[in-house]
Amino acid sequence: MEFNKIPLTRIAATLAEVMGISPPESSEKRIDALAEYIAKRTLTGKVDRVLVFNPDAIGQWIYEKYIEKFSPIIKYAPHVQPMLSVIPPKTPVCFASIYSGAEPSVHKIDRYTKPVLKIDTMFDALIRAGKKPCIISVANQSMDKIFKERDMAYYSLSYDGEVIEKALELIERDEYDFIAVYNQEYDDCMHRTHPQSKCSLAALDHYAANFERMAKAVMQYWGEHDTLLALITDHGVHREWFGLGQHGKNIPKDMNIAHFYGVIPKNIAK
Ligand SMILES: [Zn+2]
Repeated sequence: MEFNKIPLTRIAATLAEVMGISPPESSEKRIDALAEYIAKRTLTGKVDRVLVFNPDAIGQWIYEKYIEKFSPIIKYAPHVQPMLSVIPPKTPVCFASIYSGAEPSVHKIDRYTKPVLKIDTMFDALIRAGKKPCIISVANQSMDKIFKERDMAYYSLSYDGEVIEKALELIERDEYDFIAVYNQEYDDCMHRTHPQSKCSLAALDHYAANFERMAKAVMQYWGEHDTLLALITDHGVHREWFGLGQHGKNIPKDMNIAHFYGVIPKNIAK
């Protein structure tokens, strides 16, 4: 298995580009082909709403092996983008790189620790551009903690199901320009068992169903907007010699991930 080429650090500038705003200060260059894919799908070449689903720990090899489980995702987000995680592939390190566009040596979260990130992020870039972002996460997880202290909304819920209910409510309210939604059940199950256990595979189904519910809500309530739907996971997974699921190593199973993008253009038929 070879390593993918495009690192997580190139997502922030891509999202900024398609929203027509300046990227976070330390972000690496955008992914041109992905930006073009998105731009081609709206009349303006831009999107004014972004819904990012951040489910934890979907390795590319899991996606390829259980590809049928991802059909509800592919249906709304058919552009599959292979990506390389950052070292070490641990949750807070990865999400810090995804939303700052910077390497761990630059954003300073280089191990499993969850301080408030001081570096400029996508959320700061959105606020500067006059847009309203929010984060909906399971309480006390990385996504809930490391982007705090910005002038934006945070919703901290007890677990994935409550997170999704809140996301559906906020999509219907149509108040935010950029919504990041974090789920963690697969990561929890695979650490307790292994990456292909019954519990882990059921969690993949739940991720897919949750994404589909949100995509349907976007179709229903965001008809006045050009929306980018994105599924952006943080790192992959492998099974350790002692049997449990694990991640954090610089190996293709932990580093190679697949992201999914789709555009739901403004409903011009109305
Ligand atoms: Zn993670």
